Parts: sequence; C-alpha cells; structure tokens
Amino acid sequence: MLEIQRINKTYEDQPLLQNISFALGKEETLCLLGRSGSGKSTLLRIIAGLEPPESGRILWDGQDLAGTPVHRRQFGLMFQDYALFPHQNVLENVAYGLRMQGQPEDEVKRRSLEMLEAVQMRSFARRQVTDLSGGEQQRVALARTLAPQPRLVMLDEPLGALDRSLRAELLEELRALLQRFKIPAIYVTHDQEEAFAIADRMALLHNGRIEQIGPPKTVYRCPASPWAARFLGLTNLLPGRLQGSSAVETACGTLVIRRQTCQNFQPGQTVTVLLPPRVRLAQPGTVNQISGVVSDLIFQGADYSVTLKLDSGDTLHFQIEDEIAAGSRISVEVDPEEINLLEAE
Ligand code: ADP
Ligand code: MG
Repeated sequence: MLEIQRINKTYEDQPLLQNISFALGKEETLCLLGRSGSGKSTLLRIIAGLEPPESGRILWDGQDLAGTPVHRRQFGLMFQDYALFPHQNVLENVAYGLRMQGQPEDEVKRRSLEMLEAVQMRSFARRQVTDLSGGEQQRVALARTLAPQPRLVMLDEPLGALDRSLRAELLEELRALLQRFKIPAIYVTHDQEEAFAIADRMALLHNGRIEQIGPPKTVYRCPASPWAARFLGLTNLLPGRLQGSSAVETACGTLVIRRQTCQNFQPGQTVTVLLPPRVRLAQPGTVNQISGVVSDLIFQGADYSVTLKLDSGDTLHFQIEDEIAAGSRISVEVDPEEINLLEAE
C-alpha cells in the first residue's frame, strides 16, 4: 500500500512540508486537514507524481515510485474545480480514463455507464457537462476518477465549491462509494466537519508538519496541542496549574479532574485546560460549577450556543440544551471526566 517517508518541500526558502511521513491502510480513507496554504495540495501533487519532493520517498507495496510517471501510478485524482472537458458530454468525460488505458470500446461503454449508475447520473449520459449543476458535475467528476479502477484516489477539496446541504449529501454518497469499491483514499479539506464525516483517520497539517494523526474520535477527545484543539473547534482553553493529581487551578476556580489519559503532567505543572463544548446548567451541590454572564446567545434548534463571560474576563463557548436568557448570570457544571489537560501555551 501507500507509504510516505520523510517528505520535504520548500518554496522560495520557506519550508512548506517538513518530514511528512504516514502510511495508508488498505481500504482506508485518510483525511488531510489543514488551513488554506498549509501545503495540502502540494503534498497531493507530490504523491501523484506531478511535482518532485525535495527529499523523501513515496512507496507503493514497498516499491519506490520516484521513477514512475503520473499516468503509471494508477492513482485517481479529483479536484475542487471539476476539470471536466467542456466540449464533451457526460459519458465521454467518464470514458476518458478508460480509453487512455486502451480498453476495448464496448468495455469502455459498459464501465462508464456502470460508474454513472453508481453516482446516480446514468440518465445524464448524453448531456453536455456545461448544462449540469455544480453537484452533478462533481458526481460526473467522481465517476470519471473511479472508472479506470485506480488503486488509490486523492480528492482535493472536492466539495469545496458546493453549498452546505449538497456537500453533506455528496459526502455521504462518496463515503458509501469508497467503501463499496474498497478503494483507499486521501481526502483533503480545510473543513473539520467534512473530515469527521468521511475520515477513518485524520492527519492535521500545521506549520509544515503533521501535528496529529489518528482516528477522528481519538483526535477529538485527545487533541495533541492547544492548536489542534482550536482547529477542531474546541475553543474552551484556559491556562491552569495542576494541584496534586486530581485538581487544576484556573481562572474559573479550582476544577476537579478525573483523568489525564491524553498526556501526563506533574503536580504543580502549568497546563492548558480544555473544557468540553457541551455542558448543562449546574444542579445544586455538584462539583466544577462555572458561573458567568451570558453575553451572547444563539438559538440553534436542538440547543443554544452560549457565550459565557467569566468574572475573570475570559470567555467560554458552550452548547446548552436548557432554556437560557441573554444577559442572565448562569452556572454550568463540567463533568470531571470531560476535562482535558494539554501542554501550556
Ligand atoms: P493548501 O492546498 O493547503 O491550501 P498549497 O499546497 O496549495 O496549500 O500551497 C501552500 C503554499 O505553497 C502556498 O503559500 C502557495 O503559495 C505555495 N506554493 C504552492 N505551489 C507553489 C509553487 N509552484 N511555487 C511557489 N509557491 C508555491
Ligand atoms: Mg489546496
């Protein structure tokens, strides 16, 4: 399978990718998540063979691909801008890769129609691609990528140009297709929700390095750093100091903690305390009550998004299901199990 070993790339004396290494499991979807400009597309181009790395190796089944040109790698690529051929119809677009492989014409047609069926676009076969909506074009682009039966697909922000509900729908279909065809995939996005929806494993790219790699649940529950936490949308970070092994001193009082499963710290050490996004209003007598004034309140249907201004001046953001009034003073309780300690900033 695919193995990336110590890839480095520099543009204009700026290191863009530093020592990037990972391996892709059989049938695994790895999601490469990073801000715009973090080098995601460059890494895909290097893996595809469109650009050489400065150093490092790309292996397939243990074999170095350095001498293997793009079209012999059998990797499928799909990008945000559909890059369909505008002068060809849907079927011809999907047939393109199969013709390049020199497949017999009846097989080209059979397989193209089968792929269009898989993406629910068979009835569009004779349409011009320029007549299709964005979502339809991406379905065709996906069929075109998968038709030649690549041994790996790389998708670079494939849904980036689509609106939210269409993105969610296509993401679900995409996941089902990758599972059905058992194709390993690298999926690039800057959107963490998209990453959570499709990844078997996710890799966070930051400052040229992989900041963290692991299953979505692990990455979310145990972010490797305050940066990783913020990037995943976990913004409730406060400086703290560990007291003994089961309490931490913070701007919102001394909080009881129950676990230090993610990282181990010594008593007295300064840390960053990560509080969970979902809490409830405090019941009398419970530990870890945090009080503050509701400085902003957004009704989100299932719950409220609450900005809580603490007396210390810090602000925290919570999702709360209970009924809450803007401007009121509230206390929430935080389960000791749900408090995480990260390195000090
Ligand atoms: P991402 O896909 O994560 O948004 P890219 O890989 O496209 O990031 O680009 C990362 C950075 O590398 C950008 O700042 C971009 O300007 C720079 N870059 C990309 N390709 C080149 C190139 N061929 N020459 C010089 N700089 C480049
Ligand atoms: Mg990009």
